[in-house]
Amino acid sequence: MGTSCAVDAPSALSRIRESGLVGMGGAGYPTWKKLARDKGYSVVVANAAECEPLLEQNVARLETDSDRILSGLGIAMQIVGASRGIVAIKAKNTDALETLDASVRRFKDAQQDGTRLSVALLEDRYPVGDARAVVRDVLGSLIGPAAHTSSAGALVLNVETLLRIHEILVEGKPVATKDITVAGIIDGSGYERDTSLVLYDVPIGTTIRQVLRALHITPPRPDAQFLLGGPYMGDPAQLDDPVTGTSGGIMIAGPELQDRGPVGVIVCACGASRDRLAAIVDAQGARLAGTVNCKNVVTLPDGRLKCANPGVCPGQAQAVLSLRKQGATSLLISHCTDCTNTVMQIAPKLGMRVHHATDAYLRAGGERLIRAHREPRPADR
Ligand code: SF4
Repeated sequence: MGTSCAVDAPSALSRIRESGLVGMGGAGYPTWKKLARDKGYSVVVANAAECEPLLEQNVARLETDSDRILSGLGIAMQIVGASRGIVAIKAKNTDALETLDASVRRFKDAQQDGTRLSVALLEDRYPVGDARAVVRDVLGSLIGPAAHTSSAGALVLNVETLLRIHEILVEGKPVATKDITVAGIIDGSGYERDTSLVLYDVPIGTTIRQVLRALHITPPRPDAQFLLGGPYMGDPAQLDDPVTGTSGGIMIAGPELQDRGPVGVIVCACGASRDRLAAIVDAQGARLAGTVNCKNVVTLPDGRLKCANPGVCPGQAQAVLSLRKQGATSLLISHCTDCTNTVMQIAPKLGMRVHHATDAYLRAGGERLIRAHREPRPADR
């Protein structure tokens, strides 16, 4: 393929609007609104960071469909009048990078209009895929918590959203399916227990129960818990809940570890919600000692929590000491990688046990818990 078709922007926008396409990275904002042309975008960033642990569907798509994703990127660039396109992806995804590099070369060979396409490499940490973190790490601009990425001249679109733009405008397909990862307790699937299964094009509306049955996954234990989405930001779900246009995955875990606490909770703007954290404390059979926000949390006028600088820890000692004073003997956190590291520098010295909201899912998926962050040793590669 190697290029994207020439598009008439108003008609492309109206077809995207009619398709009902929303951002497939999880936010669910109508894509046609993001593409509206009066924002002065100079660059479109294809977000392939996929920073949630266990999720693999975006990177898998790049390994198999990078031409179609770049086609969608080229179309988005034309619609908003941007001259640059950048694919942001973690450096660790070497297979996807190989395919992507070949596609970028084909795209460049085919385009004669001076557009520039490049690949930006990201670190392997959470939440490197947050749109503001992507703009900061790729373009060097930290924008405010309430600001739109357009204030940095950037439009950030998830790679699956770009694939669907290609499908709508080039292949004439409706938006009816979603790529997902199924991970955690997947006994009976025939795959290794710690493997994340990627499913392309699951019809939107298919229930978790139907997906598991189709995969021959053993009916989960009665105390299993489910998330639609990734371990950090997913929504607690039941077996008959449907996959939606923003579901990144189905996570299946066993019960939370019991810890009677009292438990102190620290809320992260980019992690599990306050309600989900309270539910985990309940499931632990614990008493809640107190709840505080990470120092970087900013509450917007509409009540949403945003991080002042996603993934860059402002120090957690104050929050941990405050909860200790309130009687907490354990902590439940939903922190980014960097802040979790900081919590681990102080909480154990105070004799506190530390739980992370993602623990049950990462244990079930055979992944390392979110604790101290370090670069992989050569033996881990
Ligand atoms: S700095 Fe705080 S609010 Fe921001 S991502 Fe890390 S834990 Fe979350």
